[in-house]
Amino acid sequence: MKHILDFSIIELAKTLESWQEKSYHSKQIFSWIYKKGVTDFSAMSDLSATLRDRLKEEFFISSLNLIKSQRSLDETEKLLFTLKDKNLIEAVSIPTENRVTGCISTQAGCKFACLFCASGQSGFKRNLTCGEIIEQALYLKNKSTAGALTHIVFMGTGEPLDNYDNVLKAVRIINSPESFQIAARRITISTCGIIPGIKKLSAEGLQIELSVSLHAADDQTRAKIMPVDKRYPLKELITACKEYEKKTNRQVTFEYVLIEGLNSSLQSAANLAKMMKGWDCKVNLIPCNPIKELNLEPPEKKETLLFKNYLVKLGINVTLRKSRGQDIEAACGQLRLRYENK
Ligand code: SAH
Repeated sequence: MKHILDFSIIELAKTLESWQEKSYHSKQIFSWIYKKGVTDFSAMSDLSATLRDRLKEEFFISSLNLIKSQRSLDETEKLLFTLKDKNLIEAVSIPTENRVTGCISTQAGCKFACLFCASGQSGFKRNLTCGEIIEQALYLKNKSTAGALTHIVFMGTGEPLDNYDNVLKAVRIINSPESFQIAARRITISTCGIIPGIKKLSAEGLQIELSVSLHAADDQTRAKIMPVDKRYPLKELITACKEYEKKTNRQVTFEYVLIEGLNSSLQSAANLAKMMKGWDCKVNLIPCNPIKELNLEPPEKKETLLFKNYLVKLGINVTLRKSRGQDIEAACGQLRLRYENK
């Protein structure tokens, strides 16, 4: 059995043709699944009984099993699922005034082991399939109390550019008029800085928002926080980001998680300012979610504001993020919600 959400509309049309069925049924099937939220082939009443039976034999629509959902006072809703092989993933829906953002995972576990992040701590399990990625968005759309999705951010568990093909296929399906029809500009890919992935993405002809987890503007500090820095150091990373901006005409956003005693001093702010000088990009500052076991804490409010104001004075486009969903621990790592206005 195959996951039908792994199929683009063209691939589905080809499959139908190979069954001697009309290819246009793919449009009807897409409409049932993506527009009407149907998860059972039997309910697709404009298809023949024979076709419905064949679909049931060959495909499944749902593979995620919801095991926990938590809703915060600010309406942020965090969902925990098991996959068919019992691996766990999380997805979050974040409603704000005029948008609903779905934060979705791209891998079960993560290889990159950033110091402050919960997801890397138990290691990497596997890549999610395109269908499993899309199903999270579909689930949020269908079941979330918030209703329709307007934005997608690939900021859940895992590194999207380490699962490039499946993520890109999911982006194209999410983008297409027959499914969610969410514009590329409303889709954000967040990366720890996988340079070959950024280069490849810049050549896709898609105006996807690129968010780069920076967390320090000098390699010595950054390598302490993010082991990936040793493989993909800052100089080349920044060159790749500038190239991305040039090719896609989209401003790059840098995420900077502030950790007391590590990257929150005025010297660190000066390094960041130097990196950003003469470059029109955005910086999101996020006070880190405390991790007791590692003794990691956010800086004091005063230090945070000094850091921010130092950058503001130099004309850098910087935002201090509020964390949402704190009462339900949606802030448990990856799922720290810091993109309210993305
Ligand atoms: N691998 C991608 C996508 C995961 S999102 C990437 O690295 O960008 C990773 C983001 O989760 C980080 O940029 C960080 O902003 C957030 N995050 C993870 N742990 C956090 C913590 N303890 N406190 C605050 N933000 C955290």
